[in-house]
Amino acid sequence: METAELRWYQDGFTPEDFTEEDQLIAKTTELFVKQDVAPKMTAIEQHDYAAGSKLFGKAGELGLLGIEVPEQYGGLSLNKKVAGLVAEKMGFAGSFSVSFNIHAGVGTLPYVYFGTEEQKQSYLPKLAAGEWIGAYALTESNAGSDALQARTSAVLNEDGTGWILNGEKQWITNAQLANVYVVFANTSEGMTAFIVERTYPGVSVGPEEKKMGIKGSSTATLLLEDVHVPQANVLGKPGQGHRVALNILNMARLKLAFSNIGSAKQALQLAVTYGKVRKQFQKSLVDFTMIQEKIANMAVSIYGAESAAYRTAGALDDALQAVNDSEDMLKKLADFAMECAINKVYGSEVQDQAVDEAVQIHGGYGYMQEYEVERLYRDARISRIFEGTNEINRLTIGKILMKKYAGSPESLPLSPVIAGGEAGRNERFVAFARRLCQQSLYTIGHSALQVDQEQEYLRLLADIVKDLYVMESALLRTQKAIRTNGPGKEAIKQAVADVLCEEGYRRVEEAAISLVSGAETDAQKRAEILQQIRNLPVPLYENLFVKKRAIAKEITNRARYFV
Ligand SMILES: Cc1cc2nc3c(=O)[nH]c(=O)nc-3n(C[C@H](O)[C@H](O)[C@H](O)COP(=O)(O)OP(=O)(O)OC[C@H]3O[C@@H](n4cnc5c(N)ncnc54)[C@H](O)[C@@H]3O)c2cc1C
Repeated sequence: METAELRWYQDGFTPEDFTEEDQLIAKTTELFVKQDVAPKMTAIEQHDYAAGSKLFGKAGELGLLGIEVPEQYGGLSLNKKVAGLVAEKMGFAGSFSVSFNIHAGVGTLPYVYFGTEEQKQSYLPKLAAGEWIGAYALTESNAGSDALQARTSAVLNEDGTGWILNGEKQWITNAQLANVYVVFANTSEGMTAFIVERTYPGVSVGPEEKKMGIKGSSTATLLLEDVHVPQANVLGKPGQGHRVALNILNMARLKLAFSNIGSAKQALQLAVTYGKVRKQFQKSLVDFTMIQEKIANMAVSIYGAESAAYRTAGALDDALQAVNDSEDMLKKLADFAMECAINKVYGSEVQDQAVDEAVQIHGGYGYMQEYEVERLYRDARISRIFEGTNEINRLTIGKILMKKYAGSPESLPLSPVIAGGEAGRNERFVAFARRLCQQSLYTIGHSALQVDQEQEYLRLLADIVKDLYVMESALLRTQKAIRTNGPGKEAIKQAVADVLCEEGYRRVEEAAISLVSGAETDAQKRAEILQQIRNLPVPLYENLFVKKRAIAKEITNRARYFV
């Protein structure tokens, strides 16, 4: 294995690049959550559907539901970056953020990307205004992760003017509130997406599920009994429903990552606010270094998640700007499947870590419903399960990485490279992590492994490339911030990036060692590769505790995440 080349990487979009107008939309969302959603949280948690519908109406009035809807259909024609910012701020809205994401994402975007002119005109203005609420119905009792095995059927009627749908779609978010559902059903040509209105005869909704968390978002079964759906309601082409389902899910994964970031920030804020007030052993909790370590860990992960998610959204916007036709657009959306899955996995795990540590910092009080953090903990758990479980997303990441780059691992997709320049510690960690990713791809590619059967290798590959993407995104962002504001003003960002890159490299190294140890069956070759990994001239590990204490102090002083 050769020593990794040290390189500088190209800039990407960062949260610091938002314009004043974008920030105004963020502020509007924050105020909406504070003034409209928060006072209604108890009502919506008790399934007060009228209160939920009213919130949608208000969000529509404010323009928040139409961020990605073209102007001619009542939207704002904005982009993924701003949609991400709104989803992040909405992440402070508990279960309403789930209802919102489903409506503005999978409940609306299928019309934007796949709808005919007529479909766009009839549905998008109502969805953007919040007059109608949208939902997405793919899952069935026997078709969860294996969603394409759905049994709901659609049969063309005798005169060919419409379809007859029969089946049951399980755990459909917004089911009770929705006026229109994007439903996936099997036809003789394969899976097909249909627009099904709530008022069509034969459509009904089962009782509300009793859930662990996100109790304010409706989850119920959508029942379809001989439902006649007009031919004009086929979304996309018959037999192409899987393309609608998968491409829309990719976008939903990115949107979910943004709301996970919001909820993680809320958990951090609650933890710090509590930790400043609560005293034990005559000291505030935030003055104990073990608590400071937790606060810093949360902040570092959030910074990584933000850097990766906004970078992905920026790159997606750039790609979608140069689209020729709908086929080209679909191809571009599909090109981002790996990045969307990386963000979904990372964002949901960052959220889980944050809510878990926030409860821990609250001690026993965190276990009491009186404290908001208890709800955050329960609400967070679903994020690793829906929009594709994190296991399924890891398989997706690993498979795409292998398919695209196994033949030429030197051309890993993680941003184009710019030659030259002096490499600092973090650049070196990223460069060596990249080298280990290449080595892992090479080892698997030259083994006899059937990775479909031995999924642990795909999991390790996914974790390696996930950490690499996050490290690189955080590094790019920090470099840009320092170029703009100087190192003095960005000392905390630098400390955060230092922790993230060093700890990220350690995780990548461990994963690469596990992967090579399992995949390389020739003991001599295995010994050589492992030795090479250990001999990589990585920077000397530092005292990260000191950096973490400084990060925690900064956050504690401001009583919130610092960006
Ligand atoms: C609150 C809530 C809201 C939801 N909202 C919607 C909605 O609006 N619309 C909709 O269509 N669906 C919705 N869903 C369904 C959701 O998308 C599915 O629950 C999810 O895709 C997982 O399917 P499953 O629950 O059947 O789990 P399963 O597929 O049975 O998986 C169980 C476990 O096995 C693992 N597993 C499964 N297959 C593999 C494999 N090949 N390799 C390794 N591990 C595997 C999974 O990762 C998981 O850990 C919702 C679910 C919930 C709970």
